[in-house]
Amino acid sequence: MKIVLIGPPGAGKGTQAEKLAVHWKIPRITTGDLFRQAVSEKTPLGLKVQGLLEKGSLVPDEIVLGLMEERMSKPDCKTGFILDGFPRTVGQAEGLEKWLGRVGLKLDSVVALEVSKEEAVGRITGRRQCASCGNTYHLHFQPPKQEGRCDVCGGSLVQRKDDEEKTVRHRLEVYDKETAPLLAFYQKKGLLKKVNGLQKPNAVFEEIKASSLIK
Ligand code: ADP
Ligand code: ADP
Ligand code: ZN
Repeated sequence: MKIVLIGPPGAGKGTQAEKLAVHWKIPRITTGDLFRQAVSEKTPLGLKVQGLLEKGSLVPDEIVLGLMEERMSKPDCKTGFILDGFPRTVGQAEGLEKWLGRVGLKLDSVVALEVSKEEAVGRITGRRQCASCGNTYHLHFQPPKQEGRCDVCGGSLVQRKDDEEKTVRHRLEVYDKETAPLLAFYQKKGLLKKVNGLQKPNAVFEEIKASSLIK
């Protein structure tokens, strides 16, 4: 299964990507995590993209495409992958199509997670992430068993710098301008599946699984 998840920040892409990766036993590739890891390790890539991530602006297409082609070429992707947060511009989607053509692959499904702007803002501003293992929580919708502590590893829960409200508004504008046009792009290719992201996480999961099996 080769599937793309599209949705505004806070739509639930990461939450669903994790469930789908376990279900289909294929890797989840999250561009945001790859960039955050590079920033925390202070690699040359990390130093280049740190300012952009903090502002909530997009990393240039050439950088994203180079990183993703390298990642998708790894042996664990032979049986498929879940792309979470990529592509995010029409240029990236065209680059992905070219790469898939070169290696003789095709996407099975592109899932658009639909949520309202208010819901997206509420989800992001309440999002907390484990500083050690990266597991994601929500202050109200998915609270940890013990306040401020990760259920999985006991690490401390922190707020991503770009999840503060003023940056979130900018990220939502970037989504409307740069990423929303991908819906028409994939609709034309007959790959787009719209899923109601406002439901409970398990209901969203069931809908994605069902819609991805329809050709
Ligand atoms: P969210 O899932 O909340 O939308 P991500 O973790 O996917 O956020 O992305 C965080 C940041 O990483 C983005 O604001 C952007 O700076 C950068 N980023 C992630 N994916 C891409 C991409 N495909 N193209 C450009 N920038 C990206
Ligand atoms: P994205 O990767 O699209 O930015 P996340 O999966 O990180 O989104 O989810 C954003 C926040 O909303 C997280 O705090 C998560 O716990 C919470 N969340 C995810 N899915 C749902 C849902 N269906 N209902 C309520 N809260 C959710
Ligand atoms: Zn943890």
